Amino acid sequence: MAPWECKQMMNIHGKVTRVAEWAAVRYAFLFLFLISVCGAQPSLSVKGNTYEGGALFLTLSNCADENPPSARIEGETYEFLRGGEGLWELVVPLSTESGGPVKLAVKCDEQSFERSFQVTSRNYGHQSITLNPSTLAGYDDPQNKADDKKIIDALEADRTAKLFSGDFIYPVQAPQTTGFGLRRTYNGWKKGWHKGLDLAGWEGEAVQAPADAVVLHTARGIVNGNTVVLSHGAGVGSVYLHLNSIQVSEGQELKKGQVLGTVGGTGGFAPHLHWETRVHGMPVNPKLFFTVPSGW
Ligand SMILES: [Zn+2]
Repeated sequence: MAPWECKQMMNIHGKVTRVAEWAAVRYAFLFLFLISVCGAQPSLSVKGNTYEGGALFLTLSNCADENPPSARIEGETYEFLRGGEGLWELVVPLSTESGGPVKLAVKCDEQSFERSFQVTSRNYGHQSITLNPSTLAGYDDPQNKADDKKIIDALEADRTAKLFSGDFIYPVQAPQTTGFGLRRTYNGWKKGWHKGLDLAGWEGEAVQAPADAVVLHTARGIVNGNTVVLSHGAGVGSVYLHLNSIQVSEGQELKKGQVLGTVGGTGGFAPHLHWETRVHGMPVNPKLFFTVPSGW
């Protein structure tokens, strides 16, 4: 029974003024029944990994808010997504520079929850790489910046309810060539960082959805090459760059393991899959999602 139905029933029965003795007994039982069913207070569950580049999995239960409740962390506010009656779900990111004390604040109805915890610093390492000067120049091309913005805009605007269930799988069964989070220096001067994982793969090898998803965005970027962006719901998205072919279209629903395209080197790179996992647009470590907390 939903809390608002309970409130309604209590109001209805509260109007009874002329009560015979037998009715008083009956209503006393009804009242006790309603207290036992409706007494459930909103509760917040927080799971996940508290390290830089990690993510927290939030579940609000018995929250009768009609409007999405919100969570505030690291200066950002995120809206929960409805997971069922009285149930709201949300994944929030921890930036790769969030080491130290972090506070999470959640509001449901008039009730507030606060959690304080320590985010563990993570040394993701450094890499110096040399790129063809024309490829490097492409990063600063306004068209490339516009390509990136479309990806982030699609992920930030995404309000898909949770689609994934349980652990993610690798999109390609291939060795990892570059890890997540590496600080990079390009051609000795340009600074950047690696927002995803690179998986070797061979040109034309199938790329699979790592979890159930809906296709948010597809594009042919000048540096990103052929691009697919998926939403897995609850704020979690994933990005696939340099594809040889795109085999899905925007709005299409995918099951875990379904092919979305093939590995390639479009955008001027040697063939490999660049794979990102993003939470509300912020890059997090994709490997986190190989071990999704129980109940998610
Ligand atoms: Zn990459």
